[in-house]
Amino acid sequence: MRIIDAHVHFSNITAFKETATAQSFVDYTAEGLLNEFKDAGVIAGVGMGVTETIGGAFPDPAALNPMLLDLSSPLLDNLFTCIGINPLTLHLAGQIEALEQSLSSERVVGIKLYAGYYHYNIGDEIYEPVYKLATTYNLPIIIHGGLTYAESGLLKYSHPLYMEETFLKYRNLTFMLCHFGDPWVMDTAAMLEKNPNLFTDLSGWIVGDANKVDRLLTEQTYTDHFKRAIVFAEKYDRLVFGTDWPLVPLDPYIRFVKSLIPQIHWEDVFFNNTIQVFPRLKEWIEKG
Ligand SMILES: [Zn+2]
Repeated sequence: MRIIDAHVHFSNITAFKETATAQSFVDYTAEGLLNEFKDAGVIAGVGMGVTETIGGAFPDPAALNPMLLDLSSPLLDNLFTCIGINPLTLHLAGQIEALEQSLSSERVVGIKLYAGYYHYNIGDEIYEPVYKLATTYNLPIIIHGGLTYAESGLLKYSHPLYMEETFLKYRNLTFMLCHFGDPWVMDTAAMLEKNPNLFTDLSGWIVGDANKVDRLLTEQTYTDHFKRAIVFAEKYDRLVFGTDWPLVPLDPYIRFVKSLIPQIHWEDVFFNNTIQVFPRLKEWIEKG
């Protein structure tokens, strides 16, 4: 089975490096990612762009747009980018032009909004130029959902319920809400029912190593939390596999997600749905 990891990070972010060293024991380098891709049978990954101007600043108010994957270059051939948006610097001269320029690269497959990390509703007018670009270039909008990995986040901006007006307003755009909006997975299930242009990724539910994944696999209360929402939503054509690497190693997390999804839907969740979200990734696959 072909697997695409639709949510990884590959940016020079202090918190990711610390987590890789102390909790997930992941080799957070190009070589480390390449090795995990090979071992886990992952044929491509999508990196969520984010940058810090000062170590530890994430979510950095000063970062310029677009926020990219800057851990090392060149990027792996099979690692694609969702450019990250910092709404706080969008008004500066040349920023919209810089965004548009970056979208001309076929390696850029989507646009990532850090809802909650930055204190704006995704429907705020500050994001209007971004939706305009997404429409012009037929690119999906990827949105952080649920708990933030920084205590400075404001959760009212990352709650799925407060995103619905935007999903409705831009029915022509594809949205992918990250992490199933965890812990508001039932709210996300309701959003999936109601909004046909919404997908959700299954990344980021575990921060830690293989031992932690194995322990949580035996915690029925924990797995039931996700299973309930997956079964209730019954939208296996709009669930997308991702990990949130380097917060967890790929192979154990694939096992975790497989345990939650009926096998008949694996091809969709691990591959087919992903290329529906990302048309440019689909083109790359079709080119062979
Ligand atoms: Zn992430």
